[in-house]
Amino acid sequence: MLLRHTPKEVIAREGLTINPAKTCQPIGAMYAALGIHGCLPHSHGSQGCCSYHRSTLTRHYKEPVMAATSSFTEGASVFGGQANLLAAIETIFSVYEPDIIAVHSTCLSETIGDDLQQITKKAKDDGKIPEGKYVIYASTPSFVGSHVTGYANMVTGIAEQFAQSTGEKKEQINIIAGWMEPSDMREIKKLSKELGVKIVLFPDTSDVLDAPQTGKHEFYPKGGTTVEELKSIGDSSSSLALGCISAEPAAIALDKKCKVPFETVDMPIGLSATDRFIMSLSKAAGVEVPDEITAERGRLIDVMTDMEQYFYGKKVALFGDPDQIIPLTEFLLDLNMKPIHIVSGTPGQRFEKRMKEILRRIPEANFKNGLNADMFLLHQWMKNEPVDLLIGNTYGKYIARDENVPFLRFGFPILDRIGHSYFPNIGYSGSLRLLEKILNAFMDRQDREALEEKFELVM
Ligand code: SF4
Repeated sequence: MLLRHTPKEVIAREGLTINPAKTCQPIGAMYAALGIHGCLPHSHGSQGCCSYHRSTLTRHYKEPVMAATSSFTEGASVFGGQANLLAAIETIFSVYEPDIIAVHSTCLSETIGDDLQQITKKAKDDGKIPEGKYVIYASTPSFVGSHVTGYANMVTGIAEQFAQSTGEKKEQINIIAGWMEPSDMREIKKLSKELGVKIVLFPDTSDVLDAPQTGKHEFYPKGGTTVEELKSIGDSSSSLALGCISAEPAAIALDKKCKVPFETVDMPIGLSATDRFIMSLSKAAGVEVPDEITAERGRLIDVMTDMEQYFYGKKVALFGDPDQIIPLTEFLLDLNMKPIHIVSGTPGQRFEKRMKEILRRIPEANFKNGLNADMFLLHQWMKNEPVDLLIGNTYGKYIARDENVPFLRFGFPILDRIGHSYFPNIGYSGSLRLLEKILNAFMDRQDREALEEKFELVM
């Protein structure tokens, strides 16, 4: 196998990352921009960067992802890309007719020092942005951070550049989505509706990256948060940020600009995090939790208790994006499993702080994030203390095969399966689906490897 030479002995590394547990900032910025209705993401850099970002999103969502590029060549790389971006803005509005262009930078344009704020202002001053259209921007240098940082930067840019404060508060709550699937965003809207709370969810990629087949190609599908909704977020009574790394920076920016108080909760993955989300939203809106949500919760608890014997004590290794694996780790503990090896390539001290809190019951657990918290290290940890299950994105399949361990695909990117963009992992019903997939991974292995005399019909 490809990874058969991974050594068991862990040697401290500083300047070397092997098989990073992350990808590049602009991918996150592009994904966030697709959650605005009528928006065309624009990559300010070379064509190669844009192709990579588009193809990664296309492979994960199995939907064509549209984006434009400043098409840097040698000249722009040396003298800066202002002329390219100004020409691009003019061309895009006349040919592709978006309502919004969301520009993000790349390693190259950041290194040369292009100032997106200055260039977009010049585009406006030069009359290159038609009336009623918008160009927003976010700085996303990929030599720092990760795709999650890029997502957070673009969502912050959306909040900063659209929010307006009229002085009159609206009876609505902003829900700032951390990086989650379109199906998860749909589930957030469903739960809010059941609670009877009026929300503005942003960004919102449902009906954009999971749009139905209608027989007609829509360049700008019907989904996405509208400009009107985004302008109104400055008048909302409060914001709920789902994830301290991917969503909270936008909530802080909005509070600073328009005085909208906010609360940050974990992404509602698993029982405990969903409880906190539901309680925070119902408290902020002053509503009671309806019976249908309580019943959903009850069904999850019922299956958790019925199947507890299959989960108890099982060791798990997981990797991925911090706002997703923090509540997932908590859910595994709620299932009485033992998450013992955890890495996230996204840097930030909040991850370590939250993991320390969550994992205090398992002092022997290894967890690390940022530089060198890579899949190579995770694999080495697994060689030293084997696990019963590996959870992570598609890249984990090599380790899973090498170590002959069941593998649950979770996170971004998933390039070799479908379902992630159609079935939620959040809320009580999403958590139930997650539980089912974990359970099936164990039972499939048991069926595959059981001795003939122990091969059971009823499990
Ligand atoms: S890491 Fe930098 S150079 Fe590479 S694709 Fe991303 S933005 Fe482009």
